[in-house]
Amino acid sequence: MNSATVAVEVEGLKKSYGLKPILRGINLRVQAGERLALLGANGAGKTTLMRVLACLAKPGAGMVRLCGWNAECDAQEVRRLIGLVAHQPYLYEDLTAQENLEFFARMYRVSQGRARAQVLLERVGLAKRARERVRTFSRGQLQRLAWARALLHQPDILLLDEPDTGLDQQGHALIDELMAEHSARGGSTVFITHQLERALALSDQLAFLVNGRIVRNCASRELSVEALQQLYREVVR
Ligand code: ATP
Repeated sequence: MNSATVAVEVEGLKKSYGLKPILRGINLRVQAGERLALLGANGAGKTTLMRVLACLAKPGAGMVRLCGWNAECDAQEVRRLIGLVAHQPYLYEDLTAQENLEFFARMYRVSQGRARAQVLLERVGLAKRARERVRTFSRGQLQRLAWARALLHQPDILLLDEPDTGLDQQGHALIDELMAEHSARGGSTVFITHQLERALALSDQLAFLVNGRIVRNCASRELSVEALQQLYREVVR
């Protein structure tokens, strides 16, 4: 397998908080253009794994590479490769939506940042609120803006931790489209969801995380929703 086509590569990843082991030897591979859904119970370690992939937490042991870059040593390069939608929106409350996106566009060295910000605000349904401060936004509007921020620099890899939190039905449809567009241009995605039906519909590959270990991997196309529900009950206790 050509390593250039591997977007996310994790080998023997361990991570503890204090004396408590959280990730206990994770191995993972996501190819360019592939979508991986991470499934698991509350507290299994999914967000911790996502934070390590996003260079927000350091690995305790093991290797994490994104598009060939080492997440620990080349964190600057890795941050430019990834778009993150996480529990925190990573937005400035006292800036307007437009100002936030222009700020991040400068940070990511996106050319014509103002125009790109306007396009994305339109795309996520926030054009009318472009000039309002983020502190006045609802939960779902914040999530939409977080999506716009994550997509600004056309990242190679999307890291999505429960990306539909707070979104209405139209919002769900919107992120399905955004994820499909990202895949269509060859981007890879790792996402966390507790909604099995959506996990199946939006992924190529599923990984079950139990107590800090990936205990099962499978191809999404091999499973029906019922089979996935059954498998989840068996694997995630
Ligand atoms: P959920 O489905 O509830 O979001 P998760 O699988 O994403 O759960 P994590 O958030 O990765 O789980 O948490 C895994 C474990 O790590 C939990 O026991 C949690 O208490 C612990 N943990 C997470 N962050 C910290 C931290 N900063 N300090 C100490 N312990 C932490």
